Amino acid sequence: MKTVLIWFRNDLRIHDQILIHRALQENPQRIIPFYCIDTRQFKTTSFGFPKTGKFRAKFLLESLADLRNSLQRLGSNLIVKKGIPEEIIPEVAAKHQVAKVYFSEEATAEEKSVERRVASRLKKINVEIETHWQATLYHPEDLPFPVSQIPDLFTNFRKEVEKKSQVKPCYPPVEKLPPIPEMEVGEIPTLTELGLEEFTPPHPKAVLNFRGGETEGLKRLQHYFWEKDCLKDYKQTRNGMLGADYSSKFSPWLALGCLSPRYVYWQVKQYEEERVKNDSTYWLVFELLWRDFFRFTAVKYGNRLFYLSGIQNLSLPWEEDWEKFVAWCEGQTGYPLVDANMRELKETGFMSNRGRQNVASFLTKNLGINWQMGAEWFESLLIDYDVCSNWGNWNYTAGIGNDARGFRYFNIPKQSKDYDYNGDYLRHWLPEIAAIKGEKIHEPWKLSAEEQKRYGVKLGLDYPRPIVDFFESIKRNERIYRQAKK
Ligand SMILES: Cc1cc2nc3c(=O)[nH]c(=O)nc-3n(C[C@H](O)[C@H](O)[C@H](O)COP(=O)(O)OP(=O)(O)OC[C@H]3O[C@@H](n4cnc5c(N)ncnc54)[C@H](O)[C@@H]3O)c2cc1C
Repeated sequence: MKTVLIWFRNDLRIHDQILIHRALQENPQRIIPFYCIDTRQFKTTSFGFPKTGKFRAKFLLESLADLRNSLQRLGSNLIVKKGIPEEIIPEVAAKHQVAKVYFSEEATAEEKSVERRVASRLKKINVEIETHWQATLYHPEDLPFPVSQIPDLFTNFRKEVEKKSQVKPCYPPVEKLPPIPEMEVGEIPTLTELGLEEFTPPHPKAVLNFRGGETEGLKRLQHYFWEKDCLKDYKQTRNGMLGADYSSKFSPWLALGCLSPRYVYWQVKQYEEERVKNDSTYWLVFELLWRDFFRFTAVKYGNRLFYLSGIQNLSLPWEEDWEKFVAWCEGQTGYPLVDANMRELKETGFMSNRGRQNVASFLTKNLGINWQMGAEWFESLLIDYDVCSNWGNWNYTAGIGNDARGFRYFNIPKQSKDYDYNGDYLRHWLPEIAAIKGEKIHEPWKLSAEEQKRYGVKLGLDYPRPIVDFFESIKRNERIYRQAKK
């Protein structure tokens, strides 16, 4: 009886799923859909934060439950085990006389080394493997250049790809799968069993009640594109910070592969045919290209993505000032835009793109703090953590990644006024300064003694004074940067 195994990783879906298609082509009598909860992912990062915090862990567990349901509907199931994939997969393969194992290729060091070990142990017991790349919108074989030679500047990458590459069609849905062999399917663990705190969403202030799984990801797309018709205005709304629909919020589902980027793309194309084609529909695909760009950049530069000197190999004297770092993490820097965003992240696991750019700029360009600490804090908390997008964007913002424009920083008070004109977002997350009327909500350090009294905000007591002077700290870090560049 021919048995094959599909090892699911960050591809937790059945739509546009090449592994299922390839496995079926083999005509096996048994298919074992398999997921291993890698216990190493629940340890701590190098600076001591939980590697997978409770938001992403919950999202993962929900995604597994959803995948199991979908596979059951096709006559199969999802086997879930906890442990080390390179130990468990060869064991299962040996026990059930598996002929072939299918899995998706990842891009970065930790994941690649797991792949290599799984492959070499399977080889020793004569189990074939077949791997596929399916994380990006464009398949590497359809790029106009080898991945090792992709341009370092996004614009050059984008222009060439837009001119010369095609997005492949999605794989059609399958209707039926062969059964699994007689075996333990395994319970999906609880957060407590993973050593994390249980919690019940939704957080009353969260932008969205993110629920894991392909079903919820597809529902979100249906809502954003088709029911609410938000796609036609995406370019104008995407820099918002408050509310569910200013941007797509597809990122957590894309990160775990619950949504296929190709599916999103072809839905955009359908929307352009049936509703409207404009700069907003273009822009959503443009953002997906950023996602591709960071993934391919990670492949090109390998471990350099994680080095302190980043992919530019630029040594800067970063500081590890824990007092200031904790103020940043806790949203207590005295800069309302930074604080509101950092509190949103800590309480909900999400932050807008505008927010991420500002807080990352503040940590690196004002506080001069080791950007890896920020990247690990994000890794721990983000519900949509994606190794390439996170570390790639941190490289970029810290000025050691793919940005040719030298020392660039975000003018936080200006950004606050530009993107949260009335201060609604700030009031949402910072109740202690919510009573401040007018522009000074963006710059509470400018409140006079009389105004502090009027609004019931005592600076340094109810809300911190700025932990650094904005422009002096920028000047200082710019000087340091220029010296390092010489
Ligand atoms: C410091 C920093 C860290 C980040 N870490 C992550 C991360 O771990 N995971 C992650 O998915 N995104 C990350 N981003 C990118 C971006 O902030 C999020 O993808 C976006 O905010 C998610 O919201 P959305 O789905 O509503 O985005 P939309 O604006 O609706 O964009 C659609 C999709 O395009 C992709 N995308 C958009 N912007 C970017 C970008 N700058 N880089 C890569 N992909 C992008 C995402 O997949 C997103 O879901 C980071 C950005 C910064 C500045």
